[in-house]
Amino acid sequence: MKQNFAIIGLGRFGGSICETLIEAGQEVLAIDKDEDRVNEYMNIATHAVVANAQDEMALRSLGLRNFDHVIIAIGEDIQASILVTLMAKEMGVPNVTAKAQNKYHAKVLYKIGADRVVHPERDMGIRIAHNLVSKNILDY
Ligand code: ATP
Repeated sequence: MKQNFAIIGLGRFGGSICETLIEAGQEVLAIDKDEDRVNEYMNIATHAVVANAQDEMALRSLGLRNFDHVIIAIGEDIQASILVTLMAKEMGVPNVTAKAQNKYHAKVLYKIGADRVVHPERDMGIRIAHNLVSKNILDY
């Protein structure tokens, strides 16, 4: 079933989610405050727009509340990540996924209503370790 996604932040993490969702036939609105990043995704995403996601009016005018999924892929600016996650949940977005920088950031994101919090470096480390262990067991 086709669903619509909005991705806020087009770094390596947000960008790879965008490309993969498009390859899977989904509709993606890509948002970043950096014009160069948006230009990179102009021909990839369904729509790509320059906007500061901390601006509530900008999010409303983009119709963020109508999306099935919003992915907040802002990492370094923890304040922006928290504020945007809060606004997306307040607008009634049913599925909000947010990227955390550390475990304290993750705790706050869950507390304010994020449905899923990911910490890519840590999650990938865990996955690779499990993979190495299970591979060793199979090799044995
Ligand atoms: P990654 O680790 O995914 O490569 P990064 O290290 O390039 O990310 P981050 O600080 O995590 O950088 O930000 C990811 C993206 O989010 C950047 O492209 C940045 O311009 C964008 N971004 C940050 N704050 C906002 C905001 N308030 N509104 C829109 N985009 C933002």
